[in-house]
Amino acid sequence: MLDDMLDYLEKIRERPVWQPASQETRAQFHSRLPFEPSDLAGVHEEFLSHILPYTVGNAHPGFMGWVHGGGTPVGMLAEMLAAGMNANTGGRNQIPVEVERQITRWMCELFGFPASASGLFVTGTSMANLIAVLVSRDAALGSAVRRTGVSDSSFKLKAYASHQVHGCIGRALDFAGLGSDQLRLIPCDSGRMNLRALAEAIAEDRAAGDKPFLVVGTAGTVDTGAVDDLDGIANLCRHEQLWFHVDGAYGALAMLAPELAPRLRGIERADSLAFDFHKWGQVPYDAGFILVRDGELHRQAFASPAAYLARETRGLAAGSPWPCDFGPDLSRGFRALKTWFTFKVHGAAAMGAAIARACELARILASRIEAMRELELMAPVELNIVCFCYRVAGRIDQQNRLNRELVIQLQESGAVAPSTTTLDGRVAIRAAIVNHRTDYREIEMLVNETLRIGRCLCARMLEDCA
Ligand SMILES: *Cc1c(COP(=O)(O)O)cnc(C)c1O
Repeated sequence: MLDDMLDYLEKIRERPVWQPASQETRAQFHSRLPFEPSDLAGVHEEFLSHILPYTVGNAHPGFMGWVHGGGTPVGMLAEMLAAGMNANTGGRNQIPVEVERQITRWMCELFGFPASASGLFVTGTSMANLIAVLVSRDAALGSAVRRTGVSDSSFKLKAYASHQVHGCIGRALDFAGLGSDQLRLIPCDSGRMNLRALAEAIAEDRAAGDKPFLVVGTAGTVDTGAVDDLDGIANLCRHEQLWFHVDGAYGALAMLAPELAPRLRGIERADSLAFDFHKWGQVPYDAGFILVRDGELHRQAFASPAAYLARETRGLAAGSPWPCDFGPDLSRGFRALKTWFTFKVHGAAAMGAAIARACELARILASRIEAMRELELMAPVELNIVCFCYRVAGRIDQQNRLNRELVIQLQESGAVAPSTTTLDGRVAIRAAIVNHRTDYREIEMLVNETLRIGRCLCARMLEDCA
């Protein structure tokens, strides 16, 4: 199994990025519950023929869709060790919990957070953002709200983020019982939140009797990779006494690259920071993380006494507080181990260099696009995301239809796999360079294949019109 997986990763460029599964393969997963045992080697064969070839393809260097990490063999091996240990890191007196605390201390060092900050591994930034919303809600209303519920409040808590904010922030307000309508979306200039409009929205809500409590800044927006003026937001939040949360899902780890770190200035002033090791950190899925400046507030937002979770100063029940005091999960795996291995084996500098390299490739792609009359760059390239389109003279809906079809054909070609987004009503081909395996070859492939398919589709469209 190990040999097969290492070969797979070594030769991954020879495979298609993605391919749709056949009916026969899908049928494999409609069999009856197996009561009888099977040979391990036989099941592994089935895995090789019917599962492994049909992943999303994010380990492949040609994958540029959404924002997915590529993983590493080191992470894979660490994941195997964690599974072998079968560690449950909800709490108790064990070193795996200490490994997680080590990652928290490293992240405090990287992001300039105090030693009293708390950190916790979660599935991903969606969950990390939810935790931040809950801690900030309790900071605004007092932790009694955990018992009384938010329906007791006579006013509405208001949160603010830019139009470019990830959808999981609205969902977090929903899950927290505050309502996604209480998230006010602030207009952007070039993808960055307009801070004057933000100040006006806050004043308006205060005048209406509502209670502003939270501003979410984004470090690396999902559509274009823009970074909000984090220092400016920090100033405003201090002045207005609001919680400052940063969604740095993939962008925060740009802090590892000395040439990119200055763009994140102000991140060190956040009250909480959510990010993923599984995106730009290349740690295998899943490995999200939340860092909270005031660790005690964080603990008070989740800790609940239970007789069967009583703490001691010695024995297995020592070592309080435990990870389960900082989030909703009790049983949880050992995500810290693959992260610890990744940092130690590769070193933070190499991780930062891979991040800087992705941004360099994005700039190269942008300049290739700008040199082509048939292509249009649709947004400034701030980090690693390039939004562009194949131009179609005439109606915008025709251009949109062509670009959507173009992306599907790129994906079906197996050569490169970008995804799409919509910017001001215009469909964009969106290439997010995240994978450390991606290099100049894939950039060339993306440009050449886009031109080839675009020309073909354009010719066919003209025929249809005739
Ligand atoms: C990916 C992403 C998220 C969601 O993170 P998950 O790890 O997928 O839950 C949130 N915000 C931004 C900006 C993202 O890029």
